[in-house]
Amino acid sequence: MFAAACLSIPLFASGQTAPEPLSRTYRVTRANDVEFQKIEPFKVFDNLYYVGPGYVSVWLLTTPEGNILFDSAQEPYVDYVIGNIRKVGIDPKTIKYIILSHGHLDHFGGVAKIQEASGARVVAVEEDWQMIEQTGARGGRGGGQPARVPKRDMVVKEGDTLKLGNQTLKFHQTPGHTPGVLTTEGITVYDGRTPYKAIIWGGAGYRGGLAEAEQSVKSAAKVAQIQGVQVNLQIHSWAEENGYPGGGVLERAAMLKNRKPGDPHPFVDPATFTQWVKRTQDSAAKAVQDEKQKAGK
Ligand SMILES: [Zn+2]
Repeated sequence: MFAAACLSIPLFASGQTAPEPLSRTYRVTRANDVEFQKIEPFKVFDNLYYVGPGYVSVWLLTTPEGNILFDSAQEPYVDYVIGNIRKVGIDPKTIKYIILSHGHLDHFGGVAKIQEASGARVVAVEEDWQMIEQTGARGGRGGGQPARVPKRDMVVKEGDTLKLGNQTLKFHQTPGHTPGVLTTEGITVYDGRTPYKAIIWGGAGYRGGLAEAEQSVKSAAKVAQIQGVQVNLQIHSWAEENGYPGGGVLERAAMLKNRKPGDPHPFVDPATFTQWVKRTQDSAAKAVQDEKQKAGK
């Protein structure tokens, strides 16, 4: 049968490899290709845009009473991020809050400049403010200028909420990746008339150390208890190396672009999020065992 014959044709001739996933290209292969990383901003939901470079997320959430930015990327991408905000039709001056996922430079490095352009309040947890201040006090790479850091602004803690327009965000402290880590739940995104519950886990990856591994176990358990998450807004665009079926932000964005009326929204994927949280719990538990073994305990 003709159709069956068609199906049997391999997509790639033998010996030819499939093109690598976008996640790998942006994370590894062309990680330092600045012009390549400057992707076009795109709308993900009616009230949510991706305005960051290819490798690190900057999410822009709009409300009728002003807008919220999650993370800021870092130099040399900051003017580009501000340009992207304008490109999607948002005046930076309408941004009321910039919420920082954690105290690593790739997430907060642009915030001082974006705060100047917007007048927004900058939100982070105490331990990440300390990290940011330490980064500002250290010299830059190769004896260069220290990184520009924002002045300490809003400090939030476990259980705090932030209301703006039709959004009520709820914060959790989920340390491990850094001593701070701000996870935001209660983000409501709209696809037509349908609302979905989105989360930003502010940093799930464990970075070494027994105390940090133990923190990661507790933090992953805390995230696992958050019910009803339908959309995972990743702080980096890429799918996890150990697999996040359906892909990361850029793979899903490609699906979104080709979405036909009536198709499901590719970012609405509660099952993959739940599995990923479970896997993160398992690997944190294993990291504790490994660290204990290393320490001979
Ligand atoms: Zn980090």
